[in-house]
Amino acid sequence: MMMTALKQTHVRISRLDRTLITAVVLLSSVFPVELFSNTPPASKGYDGQYSGKQGQVLVVKVKGEAQATEVKGTFLSRTIPFFREFRPGEPTGYIGLLGIDMQDDPGAYELAVEVKQGEQAKQLSFNILVAKEKFAVEYLKLPKEKVDLDEKAVARWKAEQQLVQQALAENSRLKLWHSNFVEPVNGKRTGIFGSVRIMNGKPRNPHNGEDIGAPMGADVAATNDGIVRITVDHIFSGKGVFVDHGLGFYSMYFHLSEILVKDGDLVTVGQIIGKVGATGRATGPHLHWGVKLNGARVNPYSLLDLPFKNGSTPAATVATPNPQAVPVKE
Ligand SMILES: [Zn+2]
Repeated sequence: MMMTALKQTHVRISRLDRTLITAVVLLSSVFPVELFSNTPPASKGYDGQYSGKQGQVLVVKVKGEAQATEVKGTFLSRTIPFFREFRPGEPTGYIGLLGIDMQDDPGAYELAVEVKQGEQAKQLSFNILVAKEKFAVEYLKLPKEKVDLDEKAVARWKAEQQLVQQALAENSRLKLWHSNFVEPVNGKRTGIFGSVRIMNGKPRNPHNGEDIGAPMGADVAATNDGIVRITVDHIFSGKGVFVDHGLGFYSMYFHLSEILVKDGDLVTVGQIIGKVGATGRATGPHLHWGVKLNGARVNPYSLLDLPFKNGSTPAATVATPNPQAVPVKE
């Protein structure tokens, strides 16, 4: 039936019709979305393009969906919840913080966003370009027993990993953080986020946070508002605090000499949650500061570099941490 209809239409095509068809084809290639309800789905990435390096945070904005009930993105099997954002003089929009894991392979990937309005759902597609970050290589010399774990230590480490995973599986569905992030310690940023580590001559897991050199006992502050999800005293991290900032965003503070909060405590930005130490696997007093964004290990300084000043969020920006490589802690 479809074929016959097409044939008949084709027969009657005049010169004017042809011009019109050409115009429609041209228009639909410029405005591929929603101009014609029956057009086939557009190719991936038609709603925009973002790019960033491994370990960076991208701010993705979906504009003008005033009545949306839920906005959610999917990127490399990770879920990115979007939150509503008001800016004076601009249409309402939704912001998603997309973390590029330090080990995501460079390349182009789709961020698929679903905007739900009651029963209806609209799909958006963004193209995300992941660029390679040049991470430092560190050569560490540590006591043998701290690197080559015996069976008992391996079992302990595995159990601790599991405990943390369980604790972090739960996360606040409310966005607890706000625009003003603070550096947790006044100290020297070492710039070793993501560095490849060679311990006692053998390659090990890359460094998944940033180390800040500071004296023993110096105050460690929460980078933003949140809830203390778990406090630990573990083989590698030593005394550590995991803060849940909501919507899949966690910050971690390791090697503390003292923990001043307990599980379930609400903390506010700048609140002192512990003291700098050298517990766990550490070569000297410093703070290991880590951030996880929807499962992606990102450079914590990406948050400080986000242009979230004066309570406003930008339309679309990339944070660009620029650490200087300096010697190691752990
Ligand atoms: Zn560290």
